[in-house]
Amino acid sequence: MKLGLTEHVDCAHFLPGHPKCGQIHGHTYKVEVVIEGEASGGMVLDFADLRAGIRSVLQRYDHRNWNDFLDYPSVENICERLCRDLKERLRFPFTIRVYEGAGKWAEM
Ligand SMILES: [Zn+2]
Repeated sequence: MKLGLTEHVDCAHFLPGHPKCGQIHGHTYKVEVVIEGEASGGMVLDFADLRAGIRSVLQRYDHRNWNDFLDYPSVENICERLCRDLKERLRFPFTIRVYEGAGKWAEM
């Protein structure tokens, strides 16, 4: 069974050398995480535990500048970073999808 949760994080970034995104600006990044596991006793995982795990990762970056963490903070690289961080927290296989604005996303 799959279990999903959506969180948000507000960050600044700029893409060095990019004609449009080279100026510093901000996004509210929507982050969707879907874990997969057996529903034992009626639950795969308590939503509160899943939310706590995701928030513990996102809080490192909330209201910060992605460029302080990544050389080229494209949504692809942000997704990769969050995926790596979440692997340390989640004991289930999962997919993560990060939206940079409406309708634009990267997934791993
Ligand atoms: Zn941007």
